[in-house]
Amino acid sequence: MSTEASSKAFEQAQNLIPGGVNSPVRAFSSVGGTPIFIAEGNGAYLTDIDGNKYVDFVQSWGPLIFGHRDESIEAAVIEAVKHGLSFGAPTQAETDLAQLVVSMFDSIDKIRFVSSGTEAVMSAIRLARGFTGRDDIVKFTGCYHGHSDSLLVQAGSGAVTFGNPSSPGVPADFTKHTLLATYNDIESVKKCFADSQDIACVIIEPIAGNMGLVPADKEFLAELRKICDENGTLLIFDEVMSGFRASINGAESITGTTPDIVTLGKVIGGGMPVGAFGASAEIMAKLSPEGPVYQAGTLSGNPVAMAAGFAALSKLKKNAPVMNVLNARAKRLVEGMQAAASECGVTMQIDTRGSMFGFFFNEAPVKNFADACNSDAELFAKFHAGMIKEGFYFACSLYETGFISTATTDEMIEDTIKASAKVLKAIT
Ligand code: PLP
Repeated sequence: MSTEASSKAFEQAQNLIPGGVNSPVRAFSSVGGTPIFIAEGNGAYLTDIDGNKYVDFVQSWGPLIFGHRDESIEAAVIEAVKHGLSFGAPTQAETDLAQLVVSMFDSIDKIRFVSSGTEAVMSAIRLARGFTGRDDIVKFTGCYHGHSDSLLVQAGSGAVTFGNPSSPGVPADFTKHTLLATYNDIESVKKCFADSQDIACVIIEPIAGNMGLVPADKEFLAELRKICDENGTLLIFDEVMSGFRASINGAESITGTTPDIVTLGKVIGGGMPVGAFGASAEIMAKLSPEGPVYQAGTLSGNPVAMAAGFAALSKLKKNAPVMNVLNARAKRLVEGMQAAASECGVTMQIDTRGSMFGFFFNEAPVKNFADACNSDAELFAKFHAGMIKEGFYFACSLYETGFISTATTDEMIEDTIKASAKVLKAIT
């Protein structure tokens, strides 16, 4: 297998783009080797510019739940493009997508669309602060909520991959209102509330996907809800990744805990740049122009992006049982890989939620960021490189989650398990 064209393209890109990429994790830095430059995607497959074909378990980091080039999303985008790319004025497409999301999330009466997950979270935090009149926020170590200043504190995802959770360029003054708690550890949350009477919101990935896949315990979320209620603090579920991936009705439908504000991204845009945040009518009424909390965007609610999102979510809503099929495949995949690892004397911790899957080369169960950091990063890097050579494209960081799409067949899953057994034998 040659990746010569990718290597050349990477060299050229590095001369013009920092690290050769427009989002750090794509550089393969933590696993070594050259990032694969993509020529095209089709269904479950990616083809690189050298002509190599891979089964894609990254799916653009989550958005493509129907795989690449889904016919109905593609048709919706092409139709929308014919009417104009952007107007900066209201269109029916925004209301249609809003209606659809509201029908899927019990906690959301009203929603606003933005262009990325980062923007959605940043705006939700401002809204929570504006609504409560408080400044402090609580976030969990290892959760990633985008790259805005006050949230880039002990974040997961690429920020961990680079050993640089708190980035230079973020003034200490900007993060002094961010209190840190430990995932799945309610005592650490209580400590934050003992330290501050000024907590506007607690933000959490209810199904964390940015320190690998680490779901929150149901009891922990219920306790979190209770503490927020007792203190007049808003609870934000960041579902940019888990939204429409773990369940079509949000984490609230599978955890039993209802948040005050939900942030969304990825699947909601069907592959186009869309983020959103939604809440009760009372909270959303604080938002400009209804209320005083300012938030805006030139390309927010872009008609082409709205059309892609509507096509994706309406298809998902119509085919709701598909989530069970995806989960069965995700489960089979990680269970098969775990059995293969076990044959090589390696302990693998695995989990799935809907179409999301995660695995750690770790002796003990992973409940928080510290546990995730105990995983064998060297073995992961070798596993990743081996799987790429076999034609299986996994996320290039230990701290990311894998995704199954509806285009990922049972046969592909079995092939992936077989390849993982071969690779694990070779590297252990
Ligand atoms: N929140 C979560 C939970 C995410 O997983 C991400 C991105 O992976 C973000 C926020 C930021 O979204 P974006 O990369 O679209 O800015």
